[in-house]
Order: sequence, then C-alpha cells, then structure tokens
Amino acid sequence: MSKETDRYCSFCGRKEKDTNMLISGAEAFICDVCLSNGYEMLSFENEKEDMKLISSFNNMTPKKIKKKLDEYVIGQDEAKKVLSISVYNHYKRLSLNITNDEIELNKNNVLLLGPTGVGKTLLAKTLARILHVPFAMADATSLTEAGYVGDDVETIITRLIDNANGDISLAEKGIIYIDEIDKIARKSRGNSITRDVSGEGVQQGLLKIIEGTEASVPLALGRKNPNQEMVKVDTTNILFIIGGAFPFIDSIVQKRFNKKDIGFDTESQQKILTDKEIYKAVTSEDIIEFGLIPEFMGRISNIAPLVPLDEKDMLHILTKPKNAIIKQYMKSFEMENVELEFEKDGLKYLAKKTIEKKVGARGLNSILESTMSDLMYEVPSNKKIKKIIINKDVIDKKIPPIIKLKNDKRTK
Ligand code: ADP
Repeated sequence: MSKETDRYCSFCGRKEKDTNMLISGAEAFICDVCLSNGYEMLSFENEKEDMKLISSFNNMTPKKIKKKLDEYVIGQDEAKKVLSISVYNHYKRLSLNITNDEIELNKNNVLLLGPTGVGKTLLAKTLARILHVPFAMADATSLTEAGYVGDDVETIITRLIDNANGDISLAEKGIIYIDEIDKIARKSRGNSITRDVSGEGVQQGLLKIIEGTEASVPLALGRKNPNQEMVKVDTTNILFIIGGAFPFIDSIVQKRFNKKDIGFDTESQQKILTDKEIYKAVTSEDIIEFGLIPEFMGRISNIAPLVPLDEKDMLHILTKPKNAIIKQYMKSFEMENVELEFEKDGLKYLAKKTIEKKVGARGLNSILESTMSDLMYEVPSNKKIKKIIINKDVIDKKIPPIIKLKNDKRTK
C-alpha cells in the first residue's frame, strides 16, 4: 500500500491533502468530491424510468415538470409554475416542427428574478437534468462585446456544445442560463455620449442569439485564435433562462405602486411592500427602468419571481430534497460505518444563523462545511467511532460533537 502522503484519488487525481476525505478500496482510492458526484449520477440513473416520462414531450405537462422540480427545489412555487409553463410551451413549439411558419409560436425565454442564494441557478440546472437536454451556464459579468478582452457571447454556445459532447443538433435544443444579468444593466439612463462597453454592448450582443440566429462559434473553448475551427449553430430553439437579483428594484416597484394614477386610495398608496410582494410585483417595465434595454426585455416572455427563504424553507432545504446536504453527509459517514445524527435544535440554529447572513441557502453549506471539516478529516482514520451527534452547541460554540464508540457498552 502507498504511503499516506502519496495517496491520491484514482478518479480525479486529487492528492489526499487536497480532499476532505479519501476512501480506500482494495487497490484504489476515491475522494469525497468524486464520491458525491457518483452518488448524484447514480440517483439520476435510478430515476431513468421517471425521466422517460419527462423526456418524451408528448407526456409532458407543466404540472409534471413542476412536480419533478419539487423533488430538488424547495418552495418558490410561483417561479416553478412560470418556468414549467414556459418550458412546456418551448418544447411543444419544437415538437410542432412547423415548416411553413404559418402559426409560429413565440420563444419562451424566462427571467428568474430573486435575491441571491434562493434557487435560481438550481432551478435552471435541475430543469436541464430532468429534461435530459444539454445545459450551459455563464455569468453575464464575464461577457464582453466581440472584439474586447473577455468572453464573447458566442462562447456560451461553445460551452453548450461541449456539454452536449459535441452533438450540435442536441446543443441546438439545450438550455442556456445567464446569471447576474442585472450587472450588465445600462449604467446611465440619460443620453450619455460615452460607449457603455460592459453593459448595453453585451445586451446588444446577446439579443441575436437569444432571439434566434445562425451563430458561428468556435468549436473549442480557450484563447481567441484566428485559426480556430468554427461551426454554425442555430440558436432558434435554445431556451434562454436569465437570472438576476436586481438590487434596489424595490424602489422602482414601490414608486410605481405609490403613483396616484394607479387608482388606489390614499391609505394603500402609502403601503410599503414586503420583500416577497416586491419580487412578485416586478414587471418588464420595472426591469427596463432598472437598465435592461427594451429590445432585450422584448425577447424575455416571462418573469418568474423567487422570494427570500424563511426558516422553514431552510430546514426543508437541509433535509428534504433528494440530494439534500444532510442526507449527503449521513451517506458519506455511513460508508465509514459511522452513524451521523443532527439534532433538531442544531438544524434550527443552522437555519436561523443562515438567514442572518443574508446570502440565501448558500450560507447553509458554508456553516456546515466549517462544522464538519474536522470530522471529515478524522473519521476515516478512526475505526472505533460508532455514532456522532451534532447539536446546536457544536455548530454555535464549535465544541466537539458527542461521539459514541463501538466498544462502549453504555452506548448500546
Ligand atoms: P441563486 O439564486 O443565487 O442562483 P443557487 O440556486 O445557486 O442560488 O443556490 C445556492 C445553493 O443553495 C444551491 O446549490 C442549493 O444547495 C441551495 N438552495 C438555494 N435555494 C434552494 C431551494 N429553493 N431549494 C433547495 N436548495 C436551495
């Protein structure tokens, strides 16, 4: 057997010191990341029968899509409904296979609007997985107009082809998610004479591919190179989902609500909308006022609002989804023959603490990681441990967890 220091994951090659956990087999090792990826792939494999139902467009309905999303994404019912309808109509449009363009249905690109860490990316990713279509994701802030330093908008399509294993026709039916779209809002709303390279220019660049065009894109990602191989990709049937938090959109919505000519009486004009109400009330006009250009918003048919998560949602996120983080930790410890228990007060504290951080459910992972990292390191080399109990104090005060040993009679 190799020395401890030489050990590395036989799948990804990561050295043991760079992993949280390296599990040894007869003649191979696997790290925590590969294990978790494998576990996810396996759960999706097991669902293949279910998937057939979804991937056959004839059997698909908005309700079935939403039900599938419910298995992975907690809450956000309204966004799920809007998304399910858009996706259903999008793929119905594909299945119509119109040749004479008589009754062409519009594209159904969607804007996912909501604060950070509440499930926008998760929804887009989950959708692609349950539909079995290729998926690519880009951050709008990394995109620049063609000719400037940074990624041209076409590189997103290259990524999609990559994720479709080079199958162009499959990529042409895929889903592209562009995050942080609010960050490329027009900076100035006046008649500025200076060019707005990073904002409006990128929006203009995205317009064509979102609407549908025959784009010429490099086949491989990497540095720009005049000799690189290019391919033609028709973007007409690619579904674009864009996402953004749109900070301070509340002032725009609130102002609109308080306008006299809306016809509210004096008392309701003064109504201060809650965060949830704000996100649900946002219209295309508000987004244009925020700084997305009207031509761009004209290509987005639906706005799916996501709302801030409350304590109950956080608790559900921890334990309910098929690949919930708590289930993943328990499975990982079970593979070491160790039972892992999270006490209710611990999970509740974790949920509360995460809400205070205001980073959405992303905070759950980071608090848990810091709580669990010592255990992830120690447990694989300690074969005496039978059970570990994590309670509020372990998370809050960082005290060691309750550990029950295999040969300890009192723990039986
Ligand atoms: P954003 O809204 O900023 O795109 P993400 O979708 O990337 O946020 O969420 C970050 C992480 O938080 C996800 O990977 C997931 O683990 C968790 N998460 C966020 N919202 C939800 C949700 N509604 N249901 C389940 N998990 C969620």
